[in-house]
Amino acid sequence: MNQTHVGQRLGRHKGGILSLAVLMLSLSAGCTQFDKNQVASREQSPQAQEAASTPLPESGKIKVMTTFLPMYLFTKAVAGTTADVEILVPPGTEVHEYQSTPENVKAIATANVLVKNGLGLEEFLDNTIKNAQNPKLSQINTTIGIQPLNEISPVEKTSKKEEEHADAEGNPHVWLDPVLAKQQVANIRDGLIVADPENKASYEANAIAYIKQLDSLNNQFQQTLQKTPNCTFITFHDAFPYLAKRYNLKQLAVVEIPEDQLAPTDVQNAVNAVKKYKVKALFSEPGVDNKLLKSLSKDLNLTLYSLDSLETGNTDPQYYFKAMQNNLQTLESACK
Ligand SMILES: [Zn+2]
Repeated sequence: MNQTHVGQRLGRHKGGILSLAVLMLSLSAGCTQFDKNQVASREQSPQAQEAASTPLPESGKIKVMTTFLPMYLFTKAVAGTTADVEILVPPGTEVHEYQSTPENVKAIATANVLVKNGLGLEEFLDNTIKNAQNPKLSQINTTIGIQPLNEISPVEKTSKKEEEHADAEGNPHVWLDPVLAKQQVANIRDGLIVADPENKASYEANAIAYIKQLDSLNNQFQQTLQKTPNCTFITFHDAFPYLAKRYNLKQLAVVEIPEDQLAPTDVQNAVNAVKKYKVKALFSEPGVDNKLLKSLSKDLNLTLYSLDSLETGNTDPQYYFKAMQNNLQTLESACK
């Protein structure tokens, strides 16, 4: 994978928050207060939308476009070989700030179904859909019925260059909680059945199998992480609040770290922010080569681990489980 490209992707992530996480061990118990004011349902349920009646391709299979990797993995798992599933944002390409291509417009113009994460993640979609002019396109918003989390802990700004970027619709990273992922899979299943009722049995059977795997992943996370109930962490990338909430990890703060054009004061601010929270380990993401994190880990004598937000990786539906198992092992080591 192209390291520079991934670095750029992560550098732009939500207005320059670097995709990294810091974990610390502390004795503090207590619960993080989550903002529960936000309600998930802003759109009609997929079931309520008109079923797709775009003419079927020659294969006789419906064409399903998905936005980015986790949506592809879940949809492919449910569709199997029954529907043709494609991806708009190639793995390794930034999704938050993604600019759609003419090929994306064409792909949506000929698709029967579009599967998205929602919660404001796919900002490029509105215009792309408008340009595709496909009135028969049926959309599946996989986060329907999921209560979004908003800012749950203080944000430490380490650079003036960072622009304010509020998640108006809540944090979008729901797919990193296996329990919420089950709901996303169920939403995809229901939407595919509406669009392609003939193949209902196949979508149902595939969804049952994948949800079963998600259940056992959830059990593993619960059993493993309940051994370290006081595991507290701060993040450089706000990708894990749903996972943290599910397994009683406690997120203390989000520390924003600039990646490009580091001024000495930026580095000093970052060092101070990390020191303030007495962290014992640092988390990076797979494929990320960050000088600041490396020097932080050296200066502060902290181990640098890797946590996967699944925004890049392999397109095999089983990749979700491999990546999440790795995340669990990492958390287990770091929380000890
Ligand atoms: Zn993200």
